[in-house]
Amino acid sequence: MADQPALRKPSSEETLHDREKHPTSISMIEDFTDPQIERYARHLVLPEIGDEGQARLLSASVLIVGAGGLGSPLLLYLAAAGVGRLGVVEDDSVDLSNLQRQVLHDTPAVGSHKGDSARERLAAINPEVEVTLHKTRLTAENAGEIVAGYDLVADGSDNFATRFLVNDACYLAGKTLVSAAIMRFDGQLSTFKAHQRHEGEEAHPCYRCLFGEQPERDPKQSCADVGVLASLPGVMGSLQATEVIKEITGAGDSLSGRLLLYDALSTSFRVIRAKPDPACLLCGPQARITSLDPARYRPEEAVCES
Ligand SMILES: [Zn+2]
Repeated sequence: MADQPALRKPSSEETLHDREKHPTSISMIEDFTDPQIERYARHLVLPEIGDEGQARLLSASVLIVGAGGLGSPLLLYLAAAGVGRLGVVEDDSVDLSNLQRQVLHDTPAVGSHKGDSARERLAAINPEVEVTLHKTRLTAENAGEIVAGYDLVADGSDNFATRFLVNDACYLAGKTLVSAAIMRFDGQLSTFKAHQRHEGEEAHPCYRCLFGEQPERDPKQSCADVGVLASLPGVMGSLQATEVIKEITGAGDSLSGRLLLYDALSTSFRVIRAKPDPACLLCGPQARITSLDPARYRPEEAVCES
């Protein structure tokens, strides 16, 4: 690992020539404090992350929609990884029935706002991370402004209306979206960056390309009726955090253009191709959605409280 000087600060013997060879690397490691070098040591030794990737994480901002089942591993791992600023959109309080899977919150937090519970836990994990609370539901009226304040968005919401709204807000604001959903024993995950589509490059679909219009709610499919396995949001939210870190650092291959499906009962992962829909109302050639119209996002009860 001779070309990875990430675990030490540059010594005074290093020549100007060395600095010119690795200008970015050297300048970034100088900016790290000793506790940061220790805290992020297991990232710094990874060639795919290194000091440059860690510096990107430290200066990145990520909005997490929902501090529930998916939001728990998302927030825990993104804080641990050193993402500089985490935004949390959440309007709910911690309920005893949440604790079976929402590992961000604990029993003494029952009754308190999930945002406050999240902030306290994240500060204990990594006090360097700035946490911005948006104690509100994401709506067509506020989504554009909230999303615009972040580099990237991770959706851990629990209903179709919010998922479509987050997708549309991200596309219109030019933000990459990592979106996951869970129900019973099944999970799905993909990355959407249709705003980056341009000629000559493999096309990126948006969430609408895959799922069309917001479905009519099936009354039998409410969260309390169908249930969710305790560890399922842990699996999917951890995968989602992984894809967020990859998007920020540029490590590996983006999940854009592919949809990951997980079936816990059969222990199977499937990855299927996800192509742009030429008839997509948001990102297709005849796109009609150019702003966030409240009438388009019908409020509904949670499909499966993540
Ligand atoms: Zn689309």
